[in-house]
Amino acid sequence: MADFDFSVPAELAVRIRQPGRSFDGVAAAFLDRDGVINNNGRYVNTVDDFELIPGAADAIRRLNDAGIPVIVVTNQGSVALKYLTRDELERIHDKMDRLLADHGAHADAVYAALAYPEGTIPELTKVSKYRKPNVGMIDRARDELGVSPEQSYVVGDATSDILMGKRAGCFSILVETGFGGEDGKAEATPDIVVADLTAAVDLILSKLRPNA
Ligand SMILES: [Mg+2]
Repeated sequence: MADFDFSVPAELAVRIRQPGRSFDGVAAAFLDRDGVINNNGRYVNTVDDFELIPGAADAIRRLNDAGIPVIVVTNQGSVALKYLTRDELERIHDKMDRLLADHGAHADAVYAALAYPEGTIPELTKVSKYRKPNVGMIDRARDELGVSPEQSYVVGDATSDILMGKRAGCFSILVETGFGGEDGKAEATPDIVVADLTAAVDLILSKLRPNA
């Protein structure tokens, strides 16, 4: 990936657990954050708002144990709207890391798309290639981490997650937590609907590790 530009644009927040590591073309699990990992149906604009959905951390640990990269891809247009600061977003992700670590789990990377078409911060007020349902976060993970989107899975609670997954060639899994697909943002039919992240991980492991 000698030609990949590792500089982070203003409209993106990125954290990589092991910078420089390549996952060598493997399948990844691209997980939406709000409504999948945390916060069933509430906004997360302060660190105190962030609470894991029961079972989510253990589900992520099972992906970790199976060697499947866990890549969180989250729209955080609240930053463009000034409801959420970048510093608070970092504190929220620090808390997510801590709560996952309490269960022996981790995210290999977190990508957050900060722009919003009708924002209030001028440099973040734009149509962004990173904001779901656009595929910029998946493209970046492919280039930066070496994962294979065509073999990968997207797990989300919103139609924008599902549409991103379909555009990127991933297998798309809608969960019934969070919006449960009732957000009305996009026209997209998931490949499958399951109850929650635990059930999604059951499915991913059964497809990727059929004899495990
Ligand atoms: Mg969501």
